[in-house]
Amino acid sequence: MIYRFDERKKPLILVVDDELVGRIYIEKALESEGYEVITAENGQHALELTTEHAPNMVVMDVLMPVMDGYTACKAIRAKEKGLHIPIMMLTGLDDIESVEKSFESGATDFVIKPVNLPIFKQRVRHGLKTLQTDLELYKQQLRQSHANKVAKMGYWDWEIESDHLYWSEEVYDLLDVKPDEFANNREALKARIFPEDHERLRHATVQSLRYGIPYRVEFKVKRPDQTFQVVYQDAELIRDDQGKVVRMLGIVQDITEQHLARKKIHHQYYYDTLTDLPNRILFHERLEHALERPGRSDNRIAVILINLDRFKNINESYGHKTGDQFLKLIANELRQAVRSTDTLSRLGADEFALIIEGVGSSGSIGEIAGKLLETLKKTHLVDDNELITTGSIGIALSSSENCDKDTLIRQAELALNHAKKVGGNQFFFFNEEMKSRALQSLNIEKELRHALENDELVVFYQPKVCVQTGRIKGMEALIRWQHPERGLVPPFEFIPVAENTGLIIPIGKQVLEKACQQTKRWHQKGYTDLVVSVNVSVKQFLQQNFAREVEEVIASSGLPPAFVDLEITESCTMNNIETAITLLNTFREMGLLISMDDFGTGFSSLSFLNQLPLDTLKIDRAFIKDINENHEHGELARLIITMAKTLNLHTVAEGVEEPYHLDFLQQLGCDEYQGFFLSPPVPAKEFEVLLSVNEQKLAEASS
Ligand code: C2E
Ligand code: MG
Ligand code: MG
Repeated sequence: MIYRFDERKKPLILVVDDELVGRIYIEKALESEGYEVITAENGQHALELTTEHAPNMVVMDVLMPVMDGYTACKAIRAKEKGLHIPIMMLTGLDDIESVEKSFESGATDFVIKPVNLPIFKQRVRHGLKTLQTDLELYKQQLRQSHANKVAKMGYWDWEIESDHLYWSEEVYDLLDVKPDEFANNREALKARIFPEDHERLRHATVQSLRYGIPYRVEFKVKRPDQTFQVVYQDAELIRDDQGKVVRMLGIVQDITEQHLARKKIHHQYYYDTLTDLPNRILFHERLEHALERPGRSDNRIAVILINLDRFKNINESYGHKTGDQFLKLIANELRQAVRSTDTLSRLGADEFALIIEGVGSSGSIGEIAGKLLETLKKTHLVDDNELITTGSIGIALSSSENCDKDTLIRQAELALNHAKKVGGNQFFFFNEEMKSRALQSLNIEKELRHALENDELVVFYQPKVCVQTGRIKGMEALIRWQHPERGLVPPFEFIPVAENTGLIIPIGKQVLEKACQQTKRWHQKGYTDLVVSVNVSVKQFLQQNFAREVEEVIASSGLPPAFVDLEITESCTMNNIETAITLLNTFREMGLLISMDDFGTGFSSLSFLNQLPLDTLKIDRAFIKDINENHEHGELARLIITMAKTLNLHTVAEGVEEPYHLDFLQQLGCDEYQGFFLSPPVPAKEFEVLLSVNEQKLAEASS
C-alpha cells in the first residue's frame, strides 16, 4: 500500500478545512506548486479519503465540526495506510499547548493561520521529502525483517555495563516464546537450552570477553511443544572510542533444517542403506580411532571379518529381493549377538566386520566367533522361505608391533580366505603361515604367467582301461609344469592359484589344444578309437563363449569331437543348474562326451545327476581306496555303480592301485578304470609305449 506513494508522478495532498475560503486558498497554492490536491471539510471525511486515496501528505485544520483535527490525526495514524503520512496541522492558536497536542496526536508539523505561503510551501516540500526517506527506511526495515524471517534469524544486543539484554522480535518468533516471559531474562532462555550445551555456550562467552574475540556456537533448544531446535549463534564485541568493550551483538539463527539435512547426509555417508549398519567408511574410521586411542597397549583390538558361504546361491535361487531381506535379517541377528559397544559393520554384499576393543584373551574372541557361526547357522525365515546358510570368519588381533589398520584388515582377510578354502562354517585366527602362503601364491602367479608364455606346461596322459578286457580305451590329459628350477611340478601346487587368478582359462585352453593335437596324431598312427578326457575348471565352464572356444580348438586339431570327453565337476553346476544344463546340451550337440569327475565328494544327489546330460560318472578314488583285500568297505563304490547303471551312465573308477581293487570292480560291473595299477600319468612318448604294449598283450591273449 505505501508503494502507491511512489507510483504517483505528482504527490497527492489532502487539504482538510471546514472553511471553504481557507480550503480553496491552500488548494490553489499547492496546485500552483505542481501537486495534486483533494479536499475534505471535516475530520471524518478526511479519514475516509485517506483510506481511499492514501495521500502523500495531509494538511489539516485543527478546529472543525463533526471530527476535529486532533481526533482525525490520531485516527489516521491508527490506520495502517496512515502510519507514514506526514500530517501538517493548521492552527490558529500560536500557543504551546495546541502545538503539543498536535504532536501528541501524531502530527509531524504545524503551520499557524493565516498561512504565510512561501514558508508553508517550503514546509510542504520538506514534509514530502521526509516521507520519502521515512519510506525508504521503513521498506528497508521491512525487507530486513522479511529476510530475517526467511533466514530464521534474529539478533540480540547486550549492554555490558548496564547488563541490559535486548532481543529482536524475530528471536521471540524463532524460539516460539512470549516477549514478557523472555525480555531481558537470560535464565529463562538458559532453562530452554539442552544442559549438555550450557558449558560450551558459557565457555564461548567467557573466552570472547576475555580475549576480545568473536564467537560462534551451535546449541539445542527445547521448544514448548517438546520438539527441539538447533540454533546457531554468532556474536561480536562492540567497543567505544577508547577501545573498551561495551556491548556484545549477536545473531541467532534457527538451523534445525540444515542440522537435520547435515545429519541425514552424514548418515548416508557412514551407514549402509540396506541394514543401517555402519558401512566400510565408518568401519575404517572406527578402527583407526580404536588403534589410536591412548593406553592402547593393554587394550588389544580384534578385527573379525564375517562372510556368508554361498550367498550367491540364495540370491540366484530366490531373487535379489529375498536376498536383501535375508541380509537384513542376518544383520539384525548378528547385531543381537554382539555387544552394543562393538562396531558391527557391513562392508559389502555379504561381508560383515566386527571390531572388538579391550580384548582379554584370544580364547574369548574364539568364543564370540563360535557364537557368530552358530547365529548364522540357524534357519532364517524370509517370506515363508526357510533359508539356511553358514559363514566363514577370519580374525586378526592387534599387538604392540601389529597396530596398523591396513595390516590388521589384510590379516583378517587372509584368515577369512583360509576359512573359505577349507569349506566354510569355520573361524580362523591369522597366523604367519597364511601370510607366507599368500606370498607364495603371488609368486606362483607371476611364474605361471611366465610358464604360459615359455611353454613350460606339458600334458601327461594316464590310460583309461576297460575293466573286463584290459584294453586301453582312452586317456586322461593331466597337466604338469616343467619348472626350470623346481623340476616337474604337480597340479595341486599351481592349479588352485591358476583358478583364483583366472589363469586357468588360458591354461585350460592350452591343455585342450595339446591333448586334441596329440590324440589326432595317435589316431593317425592307427589307434583310431582313443578317447581323450580333458579336465574343465569351473572358471572355464562359466566363461562366456566357452562352447565356441572348445569347438574351435577341437576343429583346428582335426580330431572328431566324438573322441573328446570333457570332465566337469559338480561345482560347475552349483552356480546355476539351468545354464549348466544348456551348456552341456550344446556340447552334446557338438558330439562331445561329458563326464562327471570325482563323483561322491560333492553334494550331488541321484535326482540331481538325473537332470544333467552326462555320459560317464567317474568314481572318486577315495571310494576305491576303501576296498580291502577281502572286498570289504566297498559299499559306497557298489552303491554309486548301481546308481549309475540305473541312470544309464558309463562308470570309470579312479585310483585303482591293487589287483583286488580291479577284481572287485569286475564283480560290480564297472566299465573302466584308471590308476597306478596299470600306469601313473606319463609323457606322450611313454604313453605310446603303453599303447603298443597293451595292443601286443591283447593280441597275445586272443591268440
Ligand atoms: P583328477 O581329474 O581327478 O585326476 C586324477 C588324479 O588322480 C590325477 O592327479 C592322477 O595322477 C591321480 N591318480 C590317478 N591314478 C591314481 C592312483 O592309482 N592313485 C593315486 N593316489 N592317484 C591317482 P594329478 O595329475 O595330480 O591331478 C590332480 C588334479 O588336478 C586332477 O584331478 C584335476 O582335478 C586337476 N588337473 C590336472 N590337470 C588338469 C587340467 O589340465 N585342467 C584342470 N582344470 N585341472 C587339472
Ligand atoms: Mg579328471
Ligand atoms: Mg578325478
